[in-house]
Amino acid sequence: MPTDIEIAQRANLQRIGAIAAKAGIPDDAVEPYGHYKAKISLDWLAQQHARPGAKLVLVTAISPTPAGEGKTTATVGLGDALNRLGRKTMICLREPSMGPVFGIKGGAAGGGHAQVVPMEDINLHFTGDFAAIAQAHNLLAAAIDNHIHHGNALGIDPTRIRWKRVMDMNDRALRSTVVGLGGPINGQPREDGFDIVVASEVMAIFCLATSLADLRMRLGNIVFGVDRQGMPLRARQLNVHGAMTVLLRDAIKPNLVQTLENNPALVHGGPFANIAHGCSSVIATQAGLKLADYVVTEAGFGADLGAEKFLDIKCRKADLWPDACVIVATVRALKYNGGVPVKELATENLDALKKGLVNLERHVDNITGAFGLPAVVAINRFDADTDAELALIRDAMRARGVDVVLAEHWAKGGAGAEALAQEVIRLAEQGGAVPGHGRTPHFLYPDDMPLWDKLRTVATRIYGAADIVAPAKVRKQIDEWQAQGYGSYPICVAKTAVSFSADPTLLGAPSGHTVNVRDVRLSAGAGFIVMICGDIMTMPGLPKAPSAERIDIGPDGRVVGLF
Ligand code: ADP
Ligand code: MG
Repeated sequence: MPTDIEIAQRANLQRIGAIAAKAGIPDDAVEPYGHYKAKISLDWLAQQHARPGAKLVLVTAISPTPAGEGKTTATVGLGDALNRLGRKTMICLREPSMGPVFGIKGGAAGGGHAQVVPMEDINLHFTGDFAAIAQAHNLLAAAIDNHIHHGNALGIDPTRIRWKRVMDMNDRALRSTVVGLGGPINGQPREDGFDIVVASEVMAIFCLATSLADLRMRLGNIVFGVDRQGMPLRARQLNVHGAMTVLLRDAIKPNLVQTLENNPALVHGGPFANIAHGCSSVIATQAGLKLADYVVTEAGFGADLGAEKFLDIKCRKADLWPDACVIVATVRALKYNGGVPVKELATENLDALKKGLVNLERHVDNITGAFGLPAVVAINRFDADTDAELALIRDAMRARGVDVVLAEHWAKGGAGAEALAQEVIRLAEQGGAVPGHGRTPHFLYPDDMPLWDKLRTVATRIYGAADIVAPAKVRKQIDEWQAQGYGSYPICVAKTAVSFSADPTLLGAPSGHTVNVRDVRLSAGAGFIVMICGDIMTMPGLPKAPSAERIDIGPDGRVVGLF
């Protein structure tokens, strides 16, 4: 089997103008970035309406394991399959961060025969959106220190600034820094640090904004720190939110690329799925619903984090709701959840599979029960999967009234996901949908529920927890925000992705645990409260042998070693 990049480089790419035409975008609304990438005009998009009855399909998964699940691959494969079945489909994905590309995770443009291309560009720099987001973020950081230097009229408390610098690189040496050294002309020394750009609140804002004006308003709302009395200070008070918006005016237009099968895909925005909501941009999703009959999109991590935030944050804010949900699982990952070490995952093991199945069952129950969504389980096929193992999963899901479909897009492209596409069509087109709007949203909690109760609701209903606890100072902070008018915000839980609990060693479907909120953050521009329940890394490091050592340029100028 050739590698992902070898498959991608063999693809017969069409010029982006042809892909845009296929998607129904007129020439004037296409802003090409080279031959195979383009941005779509926001003005033109603003004049279009969602197609009546356009369907939104969410791709989510079981809890991630080192065995790999394949959400992005499934999103691309399903999109290609729907197009093959004559459903005009748009795929919406997150833009990859370069940090993980050079680290261990590898690319985020799909894999095997289900990829978006040109994958080298998408994985590295792409259309420069992340650089623009970093610039906008760092402009505010510079303005904060500059304001303090010039007399600090706002009374910014330099010890409580929560706006760090960002860059798109895994660089642990920058996690904690001191800035302002070197005497009075260099500003006031204070502790600072760097986050990776996908952890920037500007990224979350970028992905929730519905227009340039909305983007500007949200950037102005950012609370970057407090004054000496502890009162929140907003970016608007430094008056740089307009300039930040200017830096983002091109980035905010969605990026059009194509799949290996020449179907259109929008790859736009990419916030973390822990301290942010982990979904591609609202602008891209809405563009998809204007351009296609089906929009297939992915949410980060497992369904307890990614899907919950997609539904309770993104859908709530953008007036969206999916018509169907695909839950991706692999036999390998379920066996891993049943206690099998990574090295032994290729051996049939029905007992371990039975044990690990509880993870899939909990996610399915959450999606169909707590959120009331029609769902299908897609088993992303790996060579070593046996018929007995697949039958076991099928039986367990039949009891829940959920179909299990074997998906082979990784090996076969769209043709390998036609059965999955057929089930998605059946689910999405069955009764219950409001024409032109999708189904009635079924959020986990109402806006007016107090913040603390929102967290308890998510923890008990989705994670299977018995209760939540927090140190007194965290409770006090939550109460303060509640009193200051932030109580209507949804919550964004930052916890380990590998377990339903906050303890990464508890695999399967742990119950009765306690979720401990160690810290909280106000993302006032994005419009949510982050509840930090675990060790959350906002600036990753590189492993001992990073992927960067394998990435190179070949004699013909092609990129090699990008997995
Ligand atoms: P996720 O979006 O869940 O992180 P991806 O779809 O990006 O997962 O897949 C992760 C990696 O696993 C990719 O490199 C992909 O090529 C590989 N992969 C996915 N499905 C398969 C499969 N069926 N067989 C072998 N490798 C696969
Ligand atoms: Mg992915």
